[in-house]
Amino acid sequence: MHVTLDKDESDLVLATLEFASMPKIEYVDEIHNLFNKLKIAGPRFKTIPQTSVGAFSNDQRELKSWLLNLISGRRLDIKVVLREVQKRLETVDNMRFFFNGNRLRLFFATSGVQACYSYAIALILDRNLSDRLYRCAYKDCQSKEGGQSKFGIVLKGRKQKYCDKEHYRADDKLKIYDRIKSFRIRQKQNKGLR
Ligand SMILES: [Zn+2]
Repeated sequence: MHVTLDKDESDLVLATLEFASMPKIEYVDEIHNLFNKLKIAGPRFKTIPQTSVGAFSNDQRELKSWLLNLISGRRLDIKVVLREVQKRLETVDNMRFFFNGNRLRLFFATSGVQACYSYAIALILDRNLSDRLYRCAYKDCQSKEGGQSKFGIVLKGRKQKYCDKEHYRADDKLKIYDRIKSFRIRQKQNKGLR
């Protein structure tokens, strides 16, 4: 598969998926640090005070719903994301364009977290990468930390739906266990019929 994101863009997309996957957002600086270290974020990155941490939870909710819509692959759901991201990008001002090597780049001079993840989703849409997105299919992925399954993207190689090999194996084990269980239930039911 042809990788259509350059390094700065994939850094942004990966940071965005990390934000979406966080079990619980307690400190605003966790989120600031995730994004303002990115080249694409710019030096005058907007931060919010710790008392407004709830705003990032709302942002995360919005981002997760966008990702789930993209993962669903349904045209109508993807259209909703396109429309909402479009609206968000229209509010971005003070944008600068520059060349990085021979690639044209956008530079969000006064941007913040919302502009970062909105732009990441716009890149996924623009480069047709929705079907490379996944949410880990292992049901206990992150449940111990109080969170739900992680989001990820496969930028090269075969598509997958697990965040790592361990979760793939763990899920496989569960499936085998489920198959044995349903086999036993069926056996019992058969006995009941006699
Ligand atoms: Zn996982």
